[in-house]
Amino acid sequence: MIRQAKGKTPRRPPPKKPSNNQKDPVGVYCRVRPLGADDEECCIEVISNTTIQLHAPDGLKANRNGEYKETQYSFKKVFGIKTSQRELFEDVAKPLVEDLIHCKNGLLFTYGVTGSGKTHTMTGSPGQGGLLPRSLDMIFNSIGPYQAKRYVFKPDDKNGMEVQNQVDALLDRQKRDSQTTVPKTPTTRRIDPEFADMISPEEACKADGVDEDSSYSVFVSYIEIYNNYIYDLLEETPFDPIKPKWNGAGTPLRNNIEFIPPQSKILREDQNHNMYVAGCTEVEVKSTEEAFEVFWRGQKKRRIANTQLNRESSRSHSVFIVKLAQAPLDADGDNVLQDKNQVNVSQLCLVDLAGSERTSRTRAEGSRLREAGNINQSLMTLRTCIEVLRENQMCGTNKMVPYRDSKVTHLFKNYFDGEGKVRMVVCVNPKADDYEETLLVMRFAEMTQEVEVARPVDRPICGFAAGRRQRNQAFKEELTRRLEERGGPVDGEFPTVLNQLLQSFPPLPPCEISGPNDDVTLPRLIEALEKRHKIRQMMIEEYNKTANMLKSVLQEQDSNILSKENFIQEQRGRLGEKDKMIQNQKNEIDRLEKKSKMLEYKIDILQKTTNIYEEDKRSLQQELESREQRLQRELSEKRRMESRMQGMVTDAKLKWEKECERRVNAKQLEMQNKLWVKDEKLKQLKAIVTEGKTENRQPQRPSREKDKVPPKRSASPSPVPSPYDGSQSSLSSLEPIYNFSQTVRSDPHFPRPGSVSVASCISEWEQGVPQSRRQGSQSPPDSRKRAQGLPNSLSRRRGRCWAREVPVQPADVDLEETTHWTGPPVRPLHRRSHSAGGERWVDHKPTSNVDLDTVLKPNIPNAIKVNAPNEKALSKCDRYVLTHQEVASDGEIQTKLIKGEVFKTRGGGQSVQFTDIETLKQENPVAASRKRRSSETDPDGEPMEGDWTDVETRCSVAVEMRAGSNLGPGYQHHGYPKRRKP
Ligand code: ADP
Ligand code: MG
Repeated sequence: MIRQAKGKTPRRPPPKKPSNNQKDPVGVYCRVRPLGADDEECCIEVISNTTIQLHAPDGLKANRNGEYKETQYSFKKVFGIKTSQRELFEDVAKPLVEDLIHCKNGLLFTYGVTGSGKTHTMTGSPGQGGLLPRSLDMIFNSIGPYQAKRYVFKPDDKNGMEVQNQVDALLDRQKRDSQTTVPKTPTTRRIDPEFADMISPEEACKADGVDEDSSYSVFVSYIEIYNNYIYDLLEETPFDPIKPKWNGAGTPLRNNIEFIPPQSKILREDQNHNMYVAGCTEVEVKSTEEAFEVFWRGQKKRRIANTQLNRESSRSHSVFIVKLAQAPLDADGDNVLQDKNQVNVSQLCLVDLAGSERTSRTRAEGSRLREAGNINQSLMTLRTCIEVLRENQMCGTNKMVPYRDSKVTHLFKNYFDGEGKVRMVVCVNPKADDYEETLLVMRFAEMTQEVEVARPVDRPICGFAAGRRQRNQAFKEELTRRLEERGGPVDGEFPTVLNQLLQSFPPLPPCEISGPNDDVTLPRLIEALEKRHKIRQMMIEEYNKTANMLKSVLQEQDSNILSKENFIQEQRGRLGEKDKMIQNQKNEIDRLEKKSKMLEYKIDILQKTTNIYEEDKRSLQQELESREQRLQRELSEKRRMESRMQGMVTDAKLKWEKECERRVNAKQLEMQNKLWVKDEKLKQLKAIVTEGKTENRQPQRPSREKDKVPPKRSASPSPVPSPYDGSQSSLSSLEPIYNFSQTVRSDPHFPRPGSVSVASCISEWEQGVPQSRRQGSQSPPDSRKRAQGLPNSLSRRRGRCWAREVPVQPADVDLEETTHWTGPPVRPLHRRSHSAGGERWVDHKPTSNVDLDTVLKPNIPNAIKVNAPNEKALSKCDRYVLTHQEVASDGEIQTKLIKGEVFKTRGGGQSVQFTDIETLKQENPVAASRKRRSSETDPDGEPMEGDWTDVETRCSVAVEMRAGSNLGPGYQHHGYPKRRKP
């Protein structure tokens, strides 16, 4: 059985202090009304949708010397004269209504000078409903289907809300219905034309996210604060026919209408520290019309009171409070949960403040002045409170806010302390008359915007499964459908069952008592009734049993469903997780795809680069191949050339060998001829001697010397006899200095190999070099002529050098040809250092040399003596000397020391550069003196004799030939050679 939640309210949790630190500034909006027809001058201009500009009217400017300037004021939003009531509602009040439905409080007030449009904004007029009717409409549009039955929620008198059980609620409803004064249902009544069409149906709006598993109820109260007194505008004042025509307060009645002035109410603080008007009527309303009708009733009452009490309505504050009670449905989704702690009450206060004009402007006198002062006092208090709040918030001070100084501020204290959203619509009339007042309003508005109010927290959610209402609804529908399926009208269902049941009872016996003595009827009836009673008891038991069973089954089902729902919820959660995972993976895939695309692109580029490189490589390879082929060709060409050259060289060699042989033969022949001539002469001489023995015995020339024929004496072949032979040799022995700075180079026509070539070279060289000397110095008178007659090839030889490369084969003296023929001679060779213990010589004495047995012998200390020049010896020494013997023109053997310097060549071989020649010659001093004498005595003697004598004389001394070469082997060879004993 459902029990009523007792009137004794359980203690509520301590006042809800906002747990979050988030704060919102007081939302201040500005609405500019259009100018009245009479007001011509306008002092307000809307600059943007957040800013207005005030400019002083002309008269005021003139009075104050233009002291007033244009001033701008900004708001959260400015609504111009063309703004519709609906637009204003959408921006200003709609969020507050949404908050209300979501259990949050709100305070909305209009502020401004009288006539600025506060009432128009708040209440509006038919066809132009203001914020209040629109808010009510929105509330009912939103909670309409979820409203609790009337009187299920019941306000206690301590600003709390109770939940009644169904029966009590029903009883209360019946009681209300029985009262004739209260109209049955608002829908059946005709709507008061005064407030009809406040909101057109197409403008209806609805809040989202209404909790369908809660039940709602709306309560409205309407109070007026006048002269700092609070009056309840909805209080029922029963008509009191006994009351006199003058009321207790001494206020005269007007128009003879029965009027009992309202009693002022006091403010109280509930257990949540919220302020409320104690004993204030709260009317539960079920529709917009009903609510607005209640409001209109209050309005009427207010108007009457003002008229009766001679008050100005503009000096009172009217406060319309909409309370929304909501409680969760029970687990069945059928009834409101009978738990007072689960009831949530939120409220929206819609305040139409009194006009903000100053006392001076209110043409008040006497008691009216006091009223005006009070009115302004309450607004002044509001200003002060806002100021202090702002200061506390901005400077971090903790000054006490004087809420209690006026009823208005006291009533709304909680809002500023963080119990809900606060919004203010500043109404302004742009007419010039209101300028100064409007200026004050603007300043207040500006200040108010700087106050911040804590954001209300969300209410906790009750622990039942969601969707209870829907489920129950669906169940009911299903039941109806099934009953219909079973046939017959639903209404007739129950009587049929009942009839069947009644038929199953034993029939009642006839109950008519025949007479006072009838003892049968009554006992029979009693018996039958008892039987029936028993059956009924049994049936009740059965029914209870079945009901209990069904209940337990249902409960089981319920719990099953609950667990299934939980399971589904869980699965949903998991599904969500999986979805998230999938999303993440998708993102990852996307990322990877992008990456792979990027990589593919890179690969593409690399591929292209590789292709380019490969092409390059191919072309380079081709080039390489072609070059190799060319090289091969060139090599083979070279080889061919080499072989050709080899052939040429062999040819030349053979030619020259033949030539040499021919020349040697010729020479031998010549020598033999000479010998023969000499022999002939000797024979003749002999004949002469034998013939005339009277003559002086001529000292005979040693026959031994004469017998020594040149071929025997010299191994090296004599050069081809030339006309200069004699003179040249004598010249060379005469000239003390030979300048060999001009190097002699090889001639390709000369035979190369062996010492033979050296000798021929030397002779060649001898033929060439002195010629130059002769040209500029002590050359004989005919030498010039002879030089001129020289063949070109001969004169060219002066500039040649015999550079001797010692190749790998040490025994082979290889004469290398260089092709530099012009320009001053360069020494491409590097002379060895002399610093290491003086000069070292290679003493080359061919084996064919004959020991002359002379006193003066060339002796070179520390010399390496060789028969044939070799690499090893040359590498150790820095000087080279070849001892060469040949037969002079006079038949004597002359020895030539051909000297040279050894150089290392760049190729790692050795080369010899010939620098001097010393000629050692033996002569017969007797013959010489005879010859000299004969020449002296007979200057016209035979030229051959003269020549011979001349050479003999001049060759008597060996002269060192190289300038600066003091240590040369010929140094000690001055003087006459030892004359052999005859
Ligand atoms: P208040 O309540 O501030 O004293 P009211 O709301 O009574 O001022 O407005 C005074 C007059 O101006 C009314 O007749 C009202 O119809 C008119 N009025 C005010 N605001 C507007 C508006 N925005 N548009 C049209 N008329 C307006
Ligand atoms: Mg008004």
